Amino acid sequence: MTKVNLKKYKSWKQIPLAVQIVIAIILAVILGSLLGGISATNPDLINHLAIPCNLILKALRALATPLIMLAVLHAFLTAEIPGKSGRRLSVLLFTNTTVAILIGLFVANVLKPGAWGRLAAPLSSEASTKTFDPWGLLQDIVPESILKPLVDNNVIQLIFIALAFGIVLRSLKTQQISEDKTDYLAIEKVITILFEAVIRILHWVIALVPLAVFGIVAKTVAFHGFEPFKALGAFIISVLLALCLQAGYYLLRVKFGSWVTPTSFLAGGSEALLTAFSTASSTATTPITFEVLLEKIGLRESSASLGALVGSNFNNDGTALYEAMSALFIAQVLDLHLSLVQQFIVILTSIFASVGAAGIPEAGLVTMTLVFTSVGLPTQYIALLVTVDWFLDRCRTAINVMGDMTVSCLLDGKQRRVEYANKQIVDI
Ligand code: ASP
Repeated sequence: MTKVNLKKYKSWKQIPLAVQIVIAIILAVILGSLLGGISATNPDLINHLAIPCNLILKALRALATPLIMLAVLHAFLTAEIPGKSGRRLSVLLFTNTTVAILIGLFVANVLKPGAWGRLAAPLSSEASTKTFDPWGLLQDIVPESILKPLVDNNVIQLIFIALAFGIVLRSLKTQQISEDKTDYLAIEKVITILFEAVIRILHWVIALVPLAVFGIVAKTVAFHGFEPFKALGAFIISVLLALCLQAGYYLLRVKFGSWVTPTSFLAGGSEALLTAFSTASSTATTPITFEVLLEKIGLRESSASLGALVGSNFNNDGTALYEAMSALFIAQVLDLHLSLVQQFIVILTSIFASVGAAGIPEAGLVTMTLVFTSVGLPTQYIALLVTVDWFLDRCRTAINVMGDMTVSCLLDGKQRRVEYANKQIVDI
């Protein structure tokens, strides 16, 4: 028995991903420092260290569009949303996500974390030359063909197609249910299976992230020393500050928009927030979120399920904030200027990208490739962020879950449900 456990413990796969990444970073710093001496004479050898990271980023880019498409279709087909609450839910989700992105951009513009360590921009970068054309953007929403957004990784067109199909499949499902037909079940099953398949492939790619981190950190240290990591430190602090501001915004909304007090919100919801932090998956946390909203905070079942079970499919404020900040950060590191209008495109694409981000670890990295592409930022620099993503992912996941909890409280309104002495609770 002990032998088996020991064997299990020894297997690399059994070590938590975060620990694997920390080990990879330590080894890479050692290797990078050793290779620093030959960086001028043998740059090719060191450049090859980036191969695993480039492959992983390519895989993430390839998975991004099917993931978003299937996530949106799946959510439309499987979520139970009553009409009036559905509209209220959409407004709450939209405002919370927009506030999150604005907070993120505000903090990144004020603190300028990317100014702490500059890197040379690649020659092919389009970001500095891209200008904003609102009419072009409007015309660009409709793709020339159904498959083009999938091929071009165009997130706005992709969401347009996904929403169109999602809405139509949903209404066909409702119609068929009222006519006692079940044909819709076949497509629902296909979409569910495909969605799960893409997520499994994503898990394979994510399992290789420590290798990518090893290569990219060793290469960066060998060529640039520790300069870029200063900027990453400043980026971590900026993201944490922005996430705290977003948490403060949630508490204010809960205080003024529902009967729940911020203290009972935090005390009752702590289990869900800690689970989100430790699993880095809002989907894995969903049952706990639902449970604490119902049992510890005491919301009505309808509000708890709408916010935590339905809203969580679309609501990823922490992810949206992070993606927008990352785009700005990389632009700053490369000394590329993102104009206000380009930042507006970042806002739009981050909203859409966060809707399509699955509630699993590192999913934000996948959809981030689309945000970068929308403003012409080179996606290979996402590799820099991979080194700190394992930690920031946990923090933004906690905010994603806090966002779901906030929406549930707001849906519950200002009047508390009646509690009986025997602790059985019924709706007013
Ligand atoms: N890990 C996040 C979540 O589960 C998604 C992300 O990577 O941003 O909510």
